[in-house]
Amino acid sequence: MSRSLPLAVLAALAIGPNWTPPAGYVPIGRSAVDTVRRQAIANEGPVAGFRISRSAIVSGYFSPRGLPPIPGQVTVSDEGMVLEPTEDLPARTSTISLAYTDNHDGASVYVFRVDAGVFETTAPGPLLDLPGHQIRVGPSKAIKVQTERYLVSARDSAALWKTARRITAGTYADSLYTLFGHPRASVGLMGKSGRLAGRLGEYIASRDSLALDPGRMIGETQLRHTLAHELGHRWQAKAKAQIKILWSDVRPIRDPKRYGYGDTEEHQAEAIAFAVNFLQTTARIRGDQAASLTLLDHYELLVPGTRIMVRYLALQPIYRNHPLRRALTASQDSAKRVVFVGSFRRTSKD
Ligand SMILES: [Zn+2]
Repeated sequence: MSRSLPLAVLAALAIGPNWTPPAGYVPIGRSAVDTVRRQAIANEGPVAGFRISRSAIVSGYFSPRGLPPIPGQVTVSDEGMVLEPTEDLPARTSTISLAYTDNHDGASVYVFRVDAGVFETTAPGPLLDLPGHQIRVGPSKAIKVQTERYLVSARDSAALWKTARRITAGTYADSLYTLFGHPRASVGLMGKSGRLAGRLGEYIASRDSLALDPGRMIGETQLRHTLAHELGHRWQAKAKAQIKILWSDVRPIRDPKRYGYGDTEEHQAEAIAFAVNFLQTTARIRGDQAASLTLLDHYELLVPGTRIMVRYLALQPIYRNHPLRRALTASQDSAKRVVFVGSFRRTSKD
């Protein structure tokens, strides 16, 4: 009987109604924060119900699909709302709604749900008055709204293998192996049970092996994130005591829709992946240290524990020339503690 059901239905049956969408890990069609509602609203016309006399710009950070935040801004005018991240993303439409508020250094931070991701800002201005309205995400100059596309076709086995081998053999992977060690087994493709569970990657500690599912990833960023997340699991398996010490003051994830919510192991793997992303992103930025450190605050806000992982990883030899190394590791209590915990064992052969 089950053979005739489409995969998506099987997946829904296997997972059940309480399944939490794994944000950074969400294949298309699963993630959408409000898939059903979005379709209902999509026909209501662009900006029905609001008019403001001048356009307003709201600056903040956009975290698409659970991935690390990138700076961006929302322009609100009587033409509509546009969210433009600093990175190139395909143009899409979504709705905006306030998810929750948080606190950072005594200031309120407003976290809005937008297009299977969140936009956070300390100065929301008109956004607070526009819940449920349509917003365009992506470059305002793009003429067409695009549908998201997978990195490679799930049916093209050669392309799946090629992508999995490429990402696990490149310089990015090499830096992760230097930090977390190299899995003993060569990379595999995700099996059926992992796919049905909605996973995009899997680390099996007993076999020291890694499997990926590039056929359901939407871009290179998600691929890189998944690799860092899975190798983070490898580090967890090899250095339990170490991670326990690092993790002692970390608060839980606030957002119930973010991957890792209510699950310490997954939360830690997300914090590790976020930390790697932060160090890689800021390695290229010379000069504006303050802006880089502010960016870290926003990583930490979405995935607490990122900061302590960043401080720890920044002490490793691979980051000895990182422009933020001194700022990240100097004179802070938790960083001092990290120094005394010591550095990684070389695990490339274990
Ligand atoms: Zn995981």
